[in-house]
Amino acid sequence: MELVFATGNAHKVAEAQLILGKALPDLLILAHDGSDPLESGVSFLENAQIKARAAFQATGKPAFADDSGICVEVMGGAPGIFSAIWAGGRDDIENRDLLLKQLEDIPAENRMASFVCTIALVEASGETSFTGVWPGRISMGAAGNGGFGYDPVFVPEGFEVTAAELDSDVKSSFSHRSMAMRQMASFLTSR
Ligand code: IMP
Repeated sequence: MELVFATGNAHKVAEAQLILGKALPDLLILAHDGSDPLESGVSFLENAQIKARAAFQATGKPAFADDSGICVEVMGGAPGIFSAIWAGGRDDIENRDLLLKQLEDIPAENRMASFVCTIALVEASGETSFTGVWPGRISMGAAGNGGFGYDPVFVPEGFEVTAAELDSDVKSSFSHRSMAMRQMASFLTSR
């Protein structure tokens, strides 16, 4: 089975291969960066649909896209869908430095946050979506070299280290993206 993954993010492709490969050994994931359609939606779902529909139209093959981000409770859910461009550009270090600065007066117990990932799957037969939420909190400083994005400042619930300090296998067992992808894998195998 072939599925197009509409993303230009090599980290996401590696995570998808690790997660979906276990559930669907016959799956071939084709990364499609394509024309990088504008993420003009107002929700994770709308943005995922925009990207997946564009990849489906461009390739004619079943396609999925994820839209994801970090939602900080004390910031009313921001950065949310703006996570990738929070500091203005697409620079992971600038984004997380700005977030740490914005939270510098907030004590550890009030730094609750969640990673959210919504996947849109577009096939000739129709569209579906899947969402995963990974609860945790924002650390006081960055730590760890693994993962990407906000991983060095996110301490998942049940852990004392950041997501960037976790083994990629461990992150892939718990993460928002793995929850959404495992839901998609069950959907694909159950029919
Ligand atoms: P997207 O590519 O539009 O979905 O943007 C997602 C942004 O949210 C990324 O650029 C990261 O800043 C952040 N993000 C999403 N998932 C993760 C993750 O698993 N770890 C760290 N940051 C993430």
